[in-house]
Amino acid sequence: MKPYKNKINRIRTFALSLIFIGVVIMYIGIFFRSNQFIMLAFMVLGVLAIVGSTVVYAWIGLLSTKAIQIICPSCGKQTKMLGRVDMCGHCREPLTLDPSLEGKEFDEAYNRPKKKENKK
Ligand SMILES: [Zn+2]
Repeated sequence: MKPYKNKINRIRTFALSLIFIGVVIMYIGIFFRSNQFIMLAFMVLGVLAIVGSTVVYAWIGLLSTKAIQIICPSCGKQTKMLGRVDMCGHCREPLTLDPSLEGKEFDEAYNRPKKKENKK
């Protein structure tokens, strides 16, 4: 299965992993207590990663206000899409707002049995 996901979900996963990475970096820093400079460098990097994740979260909030809420035609759940083409956050159905892309996107989906999305 391709890791292609709904854009907002993907960014959220990225922000979450950034927090995790930040904590891990700071934890590694503890092992360098003998060298204060290295420990400080790790601490600063860890804090930067966590601050970065906060920024990404704020960015998601901003994007979410711009995202268009639609009802997925495939699973009937409400999902948010970004840009002209995105995927349903629940069933990964390709969604598009652009009528000229619709035929192409849906052709590709229909040409594959189930669990499609081998492209991109
Ligand atoms: Zn769906």
